[in-house]
Amino acid sequence: MEGVGNMNIVFIAPPAAGKGTQSKLLSDKYGIVHISTGDLLRSEVASGSELGNHINELLKSGKLVDDEIVFNMLETRLKQKDCDKGYILDGFPRNLEQAKIYDEMAKRLNRPIDYAILLNITREEAMRRITGRVSCPACGAVYNEYSDVFTYSGMCNHCSAKLVKREDDNIETFNQRFDTYLSRTQPIIEHYKMKGILHVVDSGISKENTFAQIESIIGGN
Ligand code: AMP
Repeated sequence: MEGVGNMNIVFIAPPAAGKGTQSKLLSDKYGIVHISTGDLLRSEVASGSELGNHINELLKSGKLVDDEIVFNMLETRLKQKDCDKGYILDGFPRNLEQAKIYDEMAKRLNRPIDYAILLNITREEAMRRITGRVSCPACGAVYNEYSDVFTYSGMCNHCSAKLVKREDDNIETFNQRFDTYLSRTQPIIEHYKMKGILHVVDSGISKENTFAQIESIIGGN
């Protein structure tokens, strides 16, 4: 595994821009922990708890989950020892309030953000990707049915588990999620620009091209 030093990264991106894919590539190559708030929320849904049912309604509508719920899960995760090596926040912060509360929490836990990476993609391309997206419930790999080649159809190339489609990957929820991104998430771009840690990546070409741009930002290969 290659090293780029300890670093904490946040990805800012509309749905289907490649946050999950790029996080996994970074995590595999550099050993940085991958924390997806969407995955944390989906695992609460899968547990079947009352809280999980409440979260599920919001996920299906494409709206944001309450900040308090997200912070409870995130703080528990960030206190774990493996986060000392650095981590990628995938899907967080989602609004300006979360970015500001995170800054306070970062001081308390000594976990400041080093890089905020904006993955840019058009609405049209994001929509095309959403309809083909499938993922592996076992190892987290994300694929596109239209562009990826599979060793066995419908199975993960890494671990052979059966690939699944996310319930919120449909056109109606996509439109709500994209609008939520524009109105709620985009304002955090300015927040990180003012801190001098914002980097912009064109994520519309290919996952390899996007990854190369990210590596040149963080000082990897
Ligand atoms: P994602 O897996 O990042 O695409 O997120 C899927 C859904 O989870 C979003 O549409 C939101 O409903 C919810 N979600 C994920 N991260 C957050 C967050 N940081 N704050 C609020 N809601 C979130």
